[in-house]
Amino acid sequence: MSLKGTLYIVSAPSGAGKTSLVRQLLARDSLVRVSVSHTTRTMRPGETDGHDYNFVTMETFNALIEEGRFLEFAEVFGNKYGTSQCWVQEQLDQGIDVILEIDWQGAQQVRRLMPEAVSIFILPPSREALRERLTGRGQDDETVIDGRMAEAVSEMSHFGEYDYLIINDRFEQALGELHAVLVARRLRMDVQQHRQLELIGGLLSEQ
Ligand code: 5GP
Repeated sequence: MSLKGTLYIVSAPSGAGKTSLVRQLLARDSLVRVSVSHTTRTMRPGETDGHDYNFVTMETFNALIEEGRFLEFAEVFGNKYGTSQCWVQEQLDQGIDVILEIDWQGAQQVRRLMPEAVSIFILPPSREALRERLTGRGQDDETVIDGRMAEAVSEMSHFGEYDYLIINDRFEQALGELHAVLVARRLRMDVQQHRQLELIGGLLSEQ
């Protein structure tokens, strides 16, 4: 029997630093991969198709829903986002851990289908820090920023549905805490008993 990977759900309001944390986590931990979602939103400067997202049309997205290709999908701020069911399953079956960077609606769907998934919520250290992060390069007016703040507050209101809560005040500390969740999970008795079968057998043998 091979050991399956663990599925992690990571959610945060935009501006909490979730993407940077996950990117650094991948650099630090070679046993985990991040799922690349499908989205109908337009590509932002600096993004690459197939790397940041699989950018698709609404027609393609709807066809993928019809074909049952999504583990979960949701509409977030007027755009559709979905996670590929088969990619995630393939990784988990190979014993590879997978991170889903998804919103609270997707998290609820995944929890229902896979209750063993481990979920983590990331919060910013203060309302001011969040507003500053959402202000960007000062290109947006107050109304746009107020809108982003309202969306962030709505996402944050779901933090209590998650297994772990990390406050991203100091980046390195938050990164260490995120990594600690993955490391601790791999040290659980049921996981270790399987991984360390040979060692345990040798240690407990009579001669
Ligand atoms: P952005 O467009 O700024 O990259 O992401 C907007 C929001 O969509 C974020 O909260 C992000 O977590 C969420 N999101 C990204 N991919 C998925 C996905 O596949 N499913 C769901 N449910 N949400 C997603």
